[in-house]
Amino acid sequence: MFSYRHAFHAGNHADVLKHAVLIALLKHLAGRDTALMVLDTHAGAGLYRLDGDYANTSGEAINGVYKLLSDKKRGIVQVKKALLAANSVTKTDEKQSDILSDYIETVLSFNAKGAEKPTIYPGSPFIIQRFLQGRDRLKAFEIHPTDSKTLAANLAQLEAGRQIAILKEDGFEGVKKFLPPPSKRALLLCDPSYEMKTDYARVVAMVTDALKRFPTGTYAVWYPIIPRPEAHDLPRKLKTLANRVGKPFLNVSLTVKSSKLIKTAEGEVERPGLPASGMFVINPPFTLKAALEVAMPQIATLLGQDANAAYTIE
Ligand code: SAM
Repeated sequence: MFSYRHAFHAGNHADVLKHAVLIALLKHLAGRDTALMVLDTHAGAGLYRLDGDYANTSGEAINGVYKLLSDKKRGIVQVKKALLAANSVTKTDEKQSDILSDYIETVLSFNAKGAEKPTIYPGSPFIIQRFLQGRDRLKAFEIHPTDSKTLAANLAQLEAGRQIAILKEDGFEGVKKFLPPPSKRALLLCDPSYEMKTDYARVVAMVTDALKRFPTGTYAVWYPIIPRPEAHDLPRKLKTLANRVGKPFLNVSLTVKSSKLIKTAEGEVERPGLPASGMFVINPPFTLKAALEVAMPQIATLLGQDANAAYTIE
């Protein structure tokens, strides 16, 4: 049941998209006069070593966060050149997108200054904590016994006191007791592994219920784009839901490569690994779309692995 471990995937292209959008949401919502309640339904272990055994197994960060960091090291001019060469920005675009810069700064802030290569990758609870202030709160749900223990040990270093609560329980159900929040401001991140087919339906049921309990909350759902009917239907169902309750939404996707099966030199057929993913945000901050319109061409260009690299913003 629990074979998924996020450490294998930390810092991959899906994490870049998910965490870049999460940071943009936090920058807009956290640290205001009225407290923000952040609900992380599937928190993971919190911190990941990119040079550790898990991450090395697949090396997914090499095609994800490392591509952005090495470009950062080479400097903004180089990034701009690569983008211009790929025709994804015009000459009038002066700078790297704020979303991309904020994401890079956040990842680097968990690593020693001037390190040759960052070795620590922050998961969603650490990213969230970084932006909380005052009476903002985080409820982090993690059901896996090992990951919830690791998360507790990692978060203990922050001495965040009452700011963070770790709940070793089912996040889909557990969020109900926190909605609506007393301050009437909430951000929910739903990031399941979708290892179980039932996760897709549970996401829709949870968001439907959450919108009834607290219609003005911001709800962000990460989803994989893979050839599976449930995965294909998920953003469509969330869109129908948002339209039915009359709430604005933003659906952003990033494709880094073809989803076609690969034939190796030995004549074997291999799966290509996750080719694309998306973030569906209900009640997004009004500034998010314009910021993503600058960020996504840059992210797609920097992370694209073949001619299929693309993004959509809806
Ligand atoms: N959100 C994390 C991040 O961005 O760093 C990564 C989360 S990972 C994709 C999904 C996590 O959800 C896994 O650690 C898994 O153990 C956990 N999990 C699976 N089912 C769960 C459930 N019903 N409730 C809470 N956690 C669950």
